[in-house]
Amino acid sequence: MHFTVLTLFPDLIREASRCSILGRAAGEGLIGVDAIDIRDYAFNKHKKVDDYPYGGGAGMLMQAEPVYLAYEAALSRIRERNENAAKARVVYMNPQGKTLDQGMAESFSKEEELIILCGHYEGIDERVLEEIVTDHVSVGDYVLTGGELPALILIDAVARLVPGVLHNDSSAQDESFQGHLLEYPQYSRPEVWHGKKVPEVLLTGHHENVEKWRHEQSVKRTLAMRPDLYEKFLREE
Ligand code: SAM
Repeated sequence: MHFTVLTLFPDLIREASRCSILGRAAGEGLIGVDAIDIRDYAFNKHKKVDDYPYGGGAGMLMQAEPVYLAYEAALSRIRERNENAAKARVVYMNPQGKTLDQGMAESFSKEEELIILCGHYEGIDERVLEEIVTDHVSVGDYVLTGGELPALILIDAVARLVPGVLHNDSSAQDESFQGHLLEYPQYSRPEVWHGKKVPEVLLTGHHENVEKWRHEQSVKRTLAMRPDLYEKFLREE
């Protein structure tokens, strides 16, 4: 799967996606992360891509044309890679969008190509958003200075669902939010730490009992920490 990020801060995207599991997955050719600098498509010698909003108000707005040209550059790179992928989804990281959740991450992970647009300043001229954006995605009800951190969150959440990225694929299936439950508590060595002992059942090697205990813990934990999710679990059980 390939992510193409349209951004004013390509280094932020490139550096972060070189690290840890994303970096390894890219090295193994399982994912690719490409950053396109919107400033390269500025049409003035100062490489300025923002201007005052019509009607007044605080702050500057990213102009439509450089964003559109960066999008066209992304499309032509995608076509070079894969001529069938002409219709890539374009996600605008937007505090006004639908809040990212595991279901959305799963849906995006089925795509071969994803274009991610990062705003800055007060955002982006609405007209280009209307023309190119297929999905508006927020990372939560708070406002950040730019879309780069949200884009990295999206890439991380999606990439780890791409087959082979987590070397043990079952670890993605067991995790929080699968089936509207949070993950059960987990323990590693030593058996006793600060006087706290690992629950007995986990030491028995009895697979069925371990699974039963984990499920009960998941339900308990979800009820305690996320009653909203617990309601969904009950409805769909
Ligand atoms: N004026 C905009 C508004 O009130 O909706 C906020 C613009 S914000 C300061 C600048 C950029 O950061 C946005 O264009 C978006 O790309 C990104 N951004 C900020 N908060 C975000 C969030 N919670 N989720 C996703 N993207 C966000």
